[in-house]
Amino acid sequence: MSLSEFQLIERFFAGLGAARADVRLGHGDDAALVDCGGATLALAVDTLIEGVHFPADAPAASIGHKLLAVNLSDMAAMGAEPAWALLALTLPAVDETRLAAIREGLDALASRHGLALIGGDTTRGESLVASLFVAGHAGEDALRRDGARPGDWVWVSGAPGEAAAGLALWQASVRDGPGVAQLLRRLHWPEPRVALGRGLRGVASAAVDVSDGVVADAGHLAHRSGVALTIRAADLPLSPALTACAGERAMEYALAGGDDYELLFTAPEAASEAVRRAADAAGVTVHPVGGVAAGRAEVTVIDADGAPMKVARGGYRHFDGGGGGR
Ligand code: ADP
Ligand code: MG
Repeated sequence: MSLSEFQLIERFFAGLGAARADVRLGHGDDAALVDCGGATLALAVDTLIEGVHFPADAPAASIGHKLLAVNLSDMAAMGAEPAWALLALTLPAVDETRLAAIREGLDALASRHGLALIGGDTTRGESLVASLFVAGHAGEDALRRDGARPGDWVWVSGAPGEAAAGLALWQASVRDGPGVAQLLRRLHWPEPRVALGRGLRGVASAAVDVSDGVVADAGHLAHRSGVALTIRAADLPLSPALTACAGERAMEYALAGGDDYELLFTAPEAASEAVRRAADAAGVTVHPVGGVAAGRAEVTVIDADGAPMKVARGGYRHFDGGGGGR
């Protein structure tokens, strides 16, 4: 069997190069943290490939928006304030109308977050591939995946599953109907939870953004923290739009659907009020959906009776034939 994306990274790229004292956190989290002139910076890069991360017929402006949104989401997961970005773009041809729209999508979101695009690289290739490197300010108390402790509560922002349901609708050429516009907006125009992440610094014990799916990303957090996570399926918020469009598959989308760019985080029970205040200030809904216990670093999903549920493996993997449409 070929290596998974994560095994590949561990095998070939972990601990590469010099060991530097100013690297506070290397690979394995949503962003790296480095000390620089008395400040702590968060650094991340993400790539969108046409046909893999967005449908070839996605609105062009949404491609620019989503490229930045997925990177800002990694900043959000660290509680960082994004500041600078570099854009590496590979294009099959110069399509000025499409480029103008991509620029517009990028520019609108960058302006809203006070982010400057300060360089990049442009090349010709077979399909549209866009990589964005983003850097922002984090602090001593940056959020990380490895801080969850037994007794903490597990929280999730927004209503996960909507983007994956939106992708299924888009692929089936469904463009109208109850809830459809909302799910398609969540697919093409995800809203990175930067303000929430910033507000959770000093409040949450650990955080990850939900790019691969609630269960898959909870698994990353469990693994990095060395704790067991339980997700209570009945407490996951299912939006009316999701239930209207996905029917009895709504829960499956909420547990395993990717691309939502919500935050999944843990916090001590005593911090629950502070969590709610941070969410209110950010204008984002949050729900407690589970708990943290000592034990094997894995995720158990339980039903309303507390019985373990079987969940289709969540998370799109690029290299081991895993399912998913991201
Ligand atoms: P995310 O979904 O948060 O963007 P990824 O799943 O892409 O994160 O990556 C997981 C972790 O592995 C991150 O910490 C990332 O920095 C690291 N990583 C991914 N690819 C490489 C690579 N080629 N070399 C070094 N580190 C990598
Ligand atoms: Mg991430």
